[in-house]
Formats: sequence, C-alpha cells, structure tokens
Amino acid sequence: MLVVMKAQATTEEIAAVCKHIEQLGFRPHPLPGAQRTAIGITGNQGEVDRGNIECLSGVAEVIRVSKPYKLASRDVKDENTVIQFPGTDAVIGGANLAVVAGPCSIESREQAFAIAEQVAASGAQFFRGGAFKPRTSPYAFQGMGLEALKIMADIRAAFGLRIITEAIDNESLEMVEAYADVIQIGARNMQNYSLLKRAGRARKPVLVKRGLSATLDELLMAAEYVLSEGNYQVILCERGVRTFADHTRNTLDLSIVPAVQRLSHLPILVDPSHGTGKRDKVLQLARAAVAVGADGIMVEVHHQPDIALSDGPQSIYPEQFSLMMDEIEQIAPIVHRRLPRGIQVTAAAL
Ligand code: PEP
Ligand code: MN
Repeated sequence: MLVVMKAQATTEEIAAVCKHIEQLGFRPHPLPGAQRTAIGITGNQGEVDRGNIECLSGVAEVIRVSKPYKLASRDVKDENTVIQFPGTDAVIGGANLAVVAGPCSIESREQAFAIAEQVAASGAQFFRGGAFKPRTSPYAFQGMGLEALKIMADIRAAFGLRIITEAIDNESLEMVEAYADVIQIGARNMQNYSLLKRAGRARKPVLVKRGLSATLDELLMAAEYVLSEGNYQVILCERGVRTFADHTRNTLDLSIVPAVQRLSHLPILVDPSHGTGKRDKVLQLARAAVAVGADGIMVEVHHQPDIALSDGPQSIYPEQFSLMMDEIEQIAPIVHRRLPRGIQVTAAAL
C-alpha cells in the first residue's frame, strides 16, 4: 500500500500518518519527492484498511501497489533516486555519470595508491578495491580485510575518491560501513537475505550486484530487502550472468538497464569487467553501457594485471581507463548525461 500525501502536506501531518501506520503494526517508509511525499507501507500481509488512513489530514489518496517489490518500484516513487555524497559533488543517479574504478582486490598499500593516483588523474570519482573477497576457491587470496579498508580510507583522504567495497558477512559489513562510502553486496550474496537486511540497517548507500543467474525480479527483490529495513540509498549493478556462451566469462545483459529503469527509480551501474572477464572487451562494453543509459560504470583497473592476485585478465591498464573516460565522455551527451572529471571535496569531507 502507498499513502500519497497532498503537495501542501506539512511535516506534522506526514509524521501523524507514519505514527498511525505504526499503531496498526506496520512499517511506514516516507519517501519525499519533488512535488509531494509518498509513504510506503510494509509489514502488512493483506490489504490495509484504507478508509481510516484516507481520512487523516494531509492525505491525498491511498493506493494498492501490485508489484512484489514495492519500495523499489516507480509506483511508489516516480522520480529517479539520486544518491549524494555529503561534502562532495559526486552523485550516483541523475544527469551525471558515476565512474567507479580500481583493482579487484587491495593487495598492498603501494599497489592501491599507484592505481588510485592514476584513476583519480583520469577523473574517476569513486575507487573500488576488495578487502573481503568471496573467492570460488578457499585456497585463493581472500583479501587483506581491515588493513585494506584502512588503506582505502587513506586513499579517500589523499585523492578525495569515495570508496566502494564489498561486505561478505555481518562482521565485514560492520567494518565496511565504518570505513567506506558505499557497501557492496556481491553477486554471490545477492540472495543472502540476512546480509541484505543488515545492509538495510546500515547508514551508508548499498550497491547490490546482480546474482550469477538472477532475474530482474530477483534483483529488484534483493534491493527491496535493503529498502524494507529503511535504507533508501540503494544502487543496482549489472555484472553479467551465466549463459552457454563461453567466449566471455559472463554474458553482460545490457538490456536489463532500460528494463530496470522502466520499473524502478533506483540507479543502475554496469560492470563490464566481470561482465566480460576479458580486458580486450571492457572498453567496448563500457561504451555500450553508457549508450544504453546506465547511470555509471564500475571497472577493474590494475597497473600490473599480470601479477594481480585476483581478476588480472579482466583488469584494464590505467592508460586504457583514461581512454575509456575520454570516450564515454563523448558518448554521454547523446544520452543526455555528463561525465564529471574529478571530484570536488570540501575540506570537512576529506
Ligand atoms: C567484485 O566486484 O570484485 C566482485 C567480486 O564482483 P561480483 O560480485 O559481481 O562477482
Ligand atoms: Mn573482481
């Protein structure tokens, strides 16, 4: 159910409706829009008696949301969600493209700084680097953990880049929440519902990557888990799915971008690195991702990919990243977007 407030509804009226919903034993989710506030209701098994709510002061109408994902749906919020990064000009969603670049894993302070310096010089606003790695083999490099988070916090201080890194369980999520700017939930955990709920209680934006064989509905339901806990700062990420094709590691499903945008107000990034698994295809798919209307790109960059501890074959060189930025900057205006080059940070947010 969705309570649509009148355009002139006051904050007191909105609060009173939320209180009423709580008294009914349900959860209110006030979602302010440019014109008016809508309040999503979750926690109800069947229909909520709309009569009483409709009589409350400031309420325009109460409507039923038929989709299984409610808070992620455009029925509840038509305007695109734009995620801000306080103290900076960086956003995810809206007219500006967001570019997230960095190595698959943080391997050492020297490695991380060398890559960060180059991606910052090319104009990235976000830095990625795995601290906790969900590896197929238990014998493969599992990440540097907390030490990597500290290195990335130092990278933020040195270059202004905002940090995105994956949490793989409740324990790592707590650490990631403390050090990073965005909490990544990886493809393998897209249906880890307890982890999604924990991310929903976090106070940082959450990036949900599409599961290895997840449908559009399953991806939106994963986002719904985060939203349902009260965290409305959710970003989706297409990173390829498993198909019979074996010329790439995964099949990058760019058609999900307009499909998501039709149904949901949440921003969606595209990861052409995991989406192809091959360095020589990343630039082409990054260009296509921008052309299809993605809100940004997440890409793996390594200055020495031959000795990378994870995902070397799909990591592009810093020079290739710089070229990618130049090319997507030119494509952006065709799809009514703009690529900011570099991040402006106020002193307090460093
Ligand atoms: C990653 O971003 O390094 C990663 C592990 O991605 P995914 O969860 O999409 O495989
Ligand atoms: Mn990787």
